[in-house]
Amino acid sequence: MSENKKPEKIVGIKGMNDILPADAHLWEIFENTAQSILQSYGYQNIRTPVVEETRLFARAIGAVTDIVEKEMYSFTDSMNGDQLTLRPEGTAGVVRAVLEHNLTYEGPKRLWYKGQMFRHERPQRGRYRQFHQFGAEAVGFAGPDIDAELIMLCRRLWDDLGLQNIRLELNSIGDAEERARHRVDLIAYLEKHEDILDAEAKRRLHSNPLRILDTKNPAMQEMVNGAPKLLDYLGDASRAHFDGLRKILDRNNVPYIVNTRLVRGIDYYNRTVFEWVTDELGAQGTVCAGGRYDPLIEMFGGKPTPGVGFAMGIERLIELMKSAGETAAPNQCDVYLVHQGEEAQMQAFILGERLRDAGLDVMLHCATPAGAGSFKSQMKKADGSGAAFAVIIGDDEVANNTANVKALRGEEGEQQQATVPFDDVVDHIVDLVVGDHGHDHVHYHH
Ligand code: ATP
Ligand code: MG
Repeated sequence: MSENKKPEKIVGIKGMNDILPADAHLWEIFENTAQSILQSYGYQNIRTPVVEETRLFARAIGAVTDIVEKEMYSFTDSMNGDQLTLRPEGTAGVVRAVLEHNLTYEGPKRLWYKGQMFRHERPQRGRYRQFHQFGAEAVGFAGPDIDAELIMLCRRLWDDLGLQNIRLELNSIGDAEERARHRVDLIAYLEKHEDILDAEAKRRLHSNPLRILDTKNPAMQEMVNGAPKLLDYLGDASRAHFDGLRKILDRNNVPYIVNTRLVRGIDYYNRTVFEWVTDELGAQGTVCAGGRYDPLIEMFGGKPTPGVGFAMGIERLIELMKSAGETAAPNQCDVYLVHQGEEAQMQAFILGERLRDAGLDVMLHCATPAGAGSFKSQMKKADGSGAAFAVIIGDDEVANNTANVKALRGEEGEQQQATVPFDDVVDHIVDLVVGDHGHDHVHYHH
């Protein structure tokens, strides 16, 4: 009979991951650290919609890029026929919002964002269909000083997260005319080596030949190594910009490698491009990619305004944090409330609110319709929560208007226990916490 049939389970979409509490803890560490660093450099948060008009991305990213060619989640709004796309990256939306709200009216703006991005790629390690980026955009700044600032705040983030072995690769892809001159020579060079080109390279030969330079095909490495280098085509202004950036990085002891084959898959970049790369993640080793996009805002119909930014792949950074040993899930609370009997539960509720008023994280043992369970089983839960203290309220405590405070950490046998007048419990616990600064299980917020 159909009424006996169990409903089929519905599962998540391939390439779109759940982030469960054990991992979400690492995400919070990442996001909090990144946000406070961005803030310390004067960057402000901006939040734009996940959905934009398809033509925004087509125009911003360029028709011959991987993203627009084959990776966008685009759809027609069935209500009104609008052509819409789930954002594949953050810059286009941020720049649209900057223009739409005239944010640079009073001068240049430093902005950061974070959020989901969507690309229809083949899911594999470090490559998902919904993924998350943390990014920054500095709009209205023309000089190499801001390029250096963006790079150096990344370095600070890796340091604060305890991530080593992320190297900086740097290049300049010049301005449009410089790339046009280089392109002629590059295509001529590639045509001379057409027998070595793979299918993808052949396809890109006339649409996006620059992109062939960052091929991962080993059979093409030697050939692309000998290709004309964009750096040799830079005019004075582009050259000065690149040298200016290198000078600041050198003076601040930021090591980098000039990678003459480094380009961006996105059309609107010019001059500075950079990537932070690690060897610890297999093929998907780029954890942050950035660069200048001076032509973009004019392409969007605004008046010429320079811009530069980066985007980090949060999933890849979380994986690095894990391999760097950042695994410990946090304690769920500082105090676990154990109780038995209806009045004891009421007292525990009241006490919980008072303890939270004092800044402590408190978990109340939850009763089932059958009751709260034995003290013994509740104490097991208290231990498992990672709390520093259990507060126990039973019949005796209710009768005497007291509570029993038990320290859960420390050697067996020397765990302190005290019966405290109900109204003194908060002070008692706060004193214990404050008097015990070295105690790493307590997250007492001052
Ligand atoms: P790739 O050459 O690896 O495809 P990309 O040029 O498409 O990279 P960007 O558009 O520059 O990547 O995105 C910036 C960063 O976002 C990447 O360096 C990476 O860390 C992350 N990222 C990009 N696509 C994905 C994805 N599908 N899943 C997870 N992270 C991603
Ligand atoms: Mg890609």
